[in-house]
Amino acid sequence: MRSIGILGSTGSVGCSTVDLVKSAPQHFKVKVLSANRNAELLIEQAHSLRPELVAIADESLYRVVAEALPGTRVVAGRAGVMEAASQPLDWVMAAIVGCAGLEPVLAAIEHSSTVAIANKEPLVAAGALVMAHVKSHGTTLLPVDSEHNAIFQVFEPENRTAIERLILTASGGPFRQWSLDAISKATPQQAVTHPNWSMGAKISVDSASMMNKGLEVIEAYHLFGMPANKIEVLVHPQSVIHSMVEYADGSILAQLGAPDMRTPIASALAWPYRMETTGQRLDLARLSRLDFEQPDHERFPALRLAYDALAAGPLACIALNAANEIGVEAFLGKKIDFSQIVETVRDTLEKLPAGSCETLDDILGYDRLCREMASGRIKMA
Ligand code: NDP
Repeated sequence: MRSIGILGSTGSVGCSTVDLVKSAPQHFKVKVLSANRNAELLIEQAHSLRPELVAIADESLYRVVAEALPGTRVVAGRAGVMEAASQPLDWVMAAIVGCAGLEPVLAAIEHSSTVAIANKEPLVAAGALVMAHVKSHGTTLLPVDSEHNAIFQVFEPENRTAIERLILTASGGPFRQWSLDAISKATPQQAVTHPNWSMGAKISVDSASMMNKGLEVIEAYHLFGMPANKIEVLVHPQSVIHSMVEYADGSILAQLGAPDMRTPIASALAWPYRMETTGQRLDLARLSRLDFEQPDHERFPALRLAYDALAAGPLACIALNAANEIGVEAFLGKKIDFSQIVETVRDTLEKLPAGSCETLDDILGYDRLCREMASGRIKMA
């Protein structure tokens, strides 16, 4: 029986995790749940899972949640989320969206035995700090992002020096075949309609711009300790091969599966064992073909920006992530066009302020500064 915490339980990854945990009550006991504002779903989840601690980030919703859950400890605000992340648990799912998850991720790494990390932005903005934390606390960190989970499943640590390339596959997103002009005029509704995956709004927009793949390159750099020139991106529209590792003898190992986040989440939940899931199975004969193409950097400039940021160093990665979060939020709020997301990121990277990223405070301060710069640019546009 593993004690479980789910940070971001009301989101897309969070809900899939809840489903899987409920399917095997003999193995998993949920002790902690957290959300931002979706009190209704959080209460519903708490009624069925009976956790010991429930955190709601929006303090104005404390009473609603507390009154609906007599007998359960309910906490609120940023401090409440940190308390939820700081429980001593066997396994924690980090599924908050954005850099807002950085401090909770660090707390979970400090207090839990295993952290399954879906929340990629903390790795982009503070990968070195997160990985150092993992090392110093002896925590097991399991990648949940489907590409990184795929690599994790076929990565041979004992043959690390024989790895020639990590190949991250990309669906290409909803605009894969659109013209540059059409992409620049895309609406939020079009951007969040992903052809293969059902995901939260932010990552869906990132997939549409291919910034998601750029963030994933940086994520892979930290998770697997591979240099950027050994991390490649290959567009694979069917999203069946979730990523690959090529070794020096020419062998390419891949992980395949239906495009359903429940598979990588289940792999992390049961690791190092395997659990049964009822999700969709891959029918290769029916699929009959798999396609691959190189990414188009002209129509999707975000990917190159991410490689450039990785080459420029950790401050640029903080800026890339912060400006992108601001840009995506403004786009979803209909304040800017789709193409302005990447312009905001590029502009912020070009005017990179001086700074330091040695400590968590440095990183949070620099992240704030870049957010202000990006917001200022959007207001002036
Ligand atoms: P969602 O937007 O669907 O869910 C985000 C979750 O985080 C919700 O529970 C939300 O609460 C909570 N949350 C948001 N802001 C805060 C905050 N400031 N403090 C505390 N909690 C907060 O996101 P996804 O599930 O799509 O993605 C989560 C993470 O996983 C992202 O980093 C994403 O990149 C990554 N990921 C997602 C995949 C997917 O298939 N969705 C695949 C691979 C990686 P509320 O519901 O109350 O707003």
